[in-house]
Amino acid sequence: MARRPLIAGNWKMNGQKKDGKALASVLARQMRAAKKRNKNKRLPFDMLVCPPFTIIERVGDAVKGSGIALGGQDCHVNESGAHTADVSAAMLKDLGCKFVIVGHSERRTDHGEKDALVKAKAEAAIAAGMTAIVCIGETLAQREKKQTLAVNRRQLRGSLPDGANAKNTVIAYEPVWAIGTGKVATPEQAQEVHAAIRATLVQLVGEAEADKMRILYGGSMKPGNASELISQPDIDGGLIGGASLKADDFMGIAKSC
Ligand code: PEP
Repeated sequence: MARRPLIAGNWKMNGQKKDGKALASVLARQMRAAKKRNKNKRLPFDMLVCPPFTIIERVGDAVKGSGIALGGQDCHVNESGAHTADVSAAMLKDLGCKFVIVGHSERRTDHGEKDALVKAKAEAAIAAGMTAIVCIGETLAQREKKQTLAVNRRQLRGSLPDGANAKNTVIAYEPVWAIGTGKVATPEQAQEVHAAIRATLVQLVGEAEADKMRILYGGSMKPGNASELISQPDIDGGLIGGASLKADDFMGIAKSC
């Protein structure tokens, strides 16, 4: 099954009004130019940027009409209420977001988020009409103990939202040891985990949806390593941190699609 690659940028806690808008404007210009070169036909990948909450609206204005989608990096499980400093899925939707990242390893580590909470957040994102990008991944210690597949299967079972399908859910496999470290999984290492994730998805959502559901790789993806990763049979794009903050690197990764 040919799945349409998704190239997603996770800006994390980077970007203020001026530089965030500048980056978004360059990306939008490059996307428009790429489309023109492609004789105005749809490009062979989807592109998404997930800026910090504070500049989502501004970035949204800059990418309007370019084909770049907008996403949040997290959401609360509730729609509204007494949850100081939290942001609901409905609020993100209101700003034009189509995607929400949930369960990023930095949320799991910095905020003690566990699978059940990640699942609830993914369900909140879907209930608000967006697609949840559910992140899972093993630590270096777990890989060294040969627990990689078991850990990823367990996190997937615990974090997958009820009612998940290929439209409302994307999985991101992000080995924790590869995030922001410059150490990238080999295409073979990544494919092995992606194949195991897809096999588990067959059990959880059925073969047809599992076959259509996108599974992204994340962890030090760069223009130089992207095409080998993305050409693996079960790797359907990337969730990109550091390299998504440089327009040429992010577009360079997209070009490998
Ligand atoms: C991430 O934070 O999702 C990520 C993959 O970061 P980086 O690309 O910097 O490793």
